[in-house]
Amino acid sequence: MFLNMKKIVAVKVFLISTILLFSSCSKSKDIKSFEAMNTFMTLQSYGSKSKKANLAVENRIRELEDSISTTKEHSYIYDLNNSSNKEIELPQDIYDLLSFSLNISKESNGALNIALYPITSAWGFTTGNYRVPAKEELEELLKFTDFSKIQLLDNRKVKLADGMKIDFGAIGKGFAGDEAIQILREQGVKSAILDLGGNVQVLGAKTDGSDWTIGIKNPWGGPVVAGVRIKNQAVITSGGYERYFTGDDGKNYIHIFDGKTGRPVENEIASVSIITESGLYGDALSTTMFVLGLENACKYWKLHQDFEMLIITNDKNLYYTSGLKDKLSLRYDFNNVFIVQ
Ligand code: AMP
Ligand code: MG
Repeated sequence: MFLNMKKIVAVKVFLISTILLFSSCSKSKDIKSFEAMNTFMTLQSYGSKSKKANLAVENRIRELEDSISTTKEHSYIYDLNNSSNKEIELPQDIYDLLSFSLNISKESNGALNIALYPITSAWGFTTGNYRVPAKEELEELLKFTDFSKIQLLDNRKVKLADGMKIDFGAIGKGFAGDEAIQILREQGVKSAILDLGGNVQVLGAKTDGSDWTIGIKNPWGGPVVAGVRIKNQAVITSGGYERYFTGDDGKNYIHIFDGKTGRPVENEIASVSIITESGLYGDALSTTMFVLGLENACKYWKLHQDFEMLIITNDKNLYYTSGLKDKLSLRYDFNNVFIVQ
């Protein structure tokens, strides 16, 4: 009888410690920060698998960077940009990325144009040697930015017309986000939040089951202007404030370009945030909507309606799409707030 009691106590102690172990596992988290794709990234994953999973994500993002970097010698994109008219074979994922971006280019009438590299370079955004190129120089360079001259051939081969150069600056981080989420899932992580240079993407909900609240930055600095509640989604923002230089003329020149003029976009938008399940789609759309401008961005949304959007204009108005109605909390005194529906 005494022995039996001991056994029961031992079983109870075992059970309690196992439960404690499990609950501490579900609360455990791993935070990993590193620099990649010219930006700072932070992965915050929860659960016992989080450390290994975050490491796998970091490795994948570095691998991706090695594939699509425009400056790393012998990345696929470096080779393509220096191929002088030869066919280059790409791995399936990069070929698909190219094909995806060309579809959005067509869909947006060229607002997204991954062939603008000659232009962004001329302005110094690829080197940091910022300058305002002459009109004639831009006219000359624009001849090499016709994305319809990118040939997607059989067997994952690609050919650029002479003088063309592409870059995935507008979509690379979004694609990295999707890859990261897939790896975390495969590794058994159920809850994570990733900050990939301002692109935020989450896996699942918070560990208590509630939504993540993602802050929307104030384009003019200071505290966030809104919080968006999401699960399994990305919030991706494009804004002139993220990267620009001030010319000798005192004007600010931003890093998002109008492919028709070869000049930085100048319109009423201060920032545009896209809320989507796919980071890649969100990243492509954030740049595209910025270039399209307020009116055409709203038209594009009405036509597609497979994403949500929040636009802050230079005159401090807020426009957001109707699907965000119950997801948004405002923390800024906007002049006007409009719901796009
Ligand atoms: P994002 O911050 O996602 O809007 O991406 C901006 C980056 O995309 C820039 O720094 C450029 O490298 C590149 N870019 C600028 N304008 C365009 C454009 N119209 N289409 C495609 N890529 C662009
Ligand atoms: Mg983008």
